[in-house]
Amino acid sequence: MSYLLRRTEENLFHGKFSTFPEDWVAHAISTRIGGVSQSPYDSLNLALHVGDDSEKVLANRKKFAQSLGFQLEDIVTPNQVHGDKIFRAEEIHRGRGSQSYADSISETDALITNVKNLPLMLCFADCVPIMFVDVENFAVGIAHGGWKGTLNKIAAKTFLAMKNNFGTTAEKCLVGIGPSIGACCYEVGANVVETCKKNFPNHDELIINRDGKIFLDLWAANKIQLMEVGLPEKNIDVAGECTCCNSNWYFSYRDTRKNNFSDTGRIAALIGIKD
Ligand SMILES: [Zn+2]
Repeated sequence: MSYLLRRTEENLFHGKFSTFPEDWVAHAISTRIGGVSQSPYDSLNLALHVGDDSEKVLANRKKFAQSLGFQLEDIVTPNQVHGDKIFRAEEIHRGRGSQSYADSISETDALITNVKNLPLMLCFADCVPIMFVDVENFAVGIAHGGWKGTLNKIAAKTFLAMKNNFGTTAEKCLVGIGPSIGACCYEVGANVVETCKKNFPNHDELIINRDGKIFLDLWAANKIQLMEVGLPEKNIDVAGECTCCNSNWYFSYRDTRKNNFSDTGRIAALIGIKD
């Protein structure tokens, strides 16, 4: 199991889970490198809602989609709200949110589909991208786990939604937990600790005390909840890359705030079934 960055012909970088099949699925997590947006969105900002010039965002999205063999016009993407709603994308949703934030799938933090050539995309700046592949029923999924989504077990709920919709089994479901803020940098407050203790009662290891500060391990919290719903540990790949430590490669909300800037771009995770 490993997570690798691969340079594409278009001079983008694709972050890829080596466990995921390549013959019928295309997936990648982007970096901030290779786009046309200007500071503070430099340069491959893939989000329309953060104040960047929308023409530049659409050029970036088009390039990223094409580098994976998809078209911008086919992407389905939601308006993410740190909730735990999961949406099944079907043919009638083709293109929703791809070119306009206003027609995004509303208030949704995870997408699943078994429709071919219907790429699913979510945007991130420190939150955890979680990608799913059902190698038996040919279905895919993607979830957005900030602290709220993670502690509300959106990863486990996304697997269960795939189980209900497509018959996905734990044994045949592969999951990738992508680059996001690590326990090295993710300092949290008392309210987060309280929620974590309530929702993960036997996992004190998720809360780390260091130098009088408290940190949360989002990667482990996502992995644990997937194992709680039956996924074998060997099916779960954790990239282990901290976006805040590596803000030259990734947009990082925390790193941006540390430097007293207010805005930053978003990387994206995209997954789709090939035609
Ligand atoms: Zn870090």
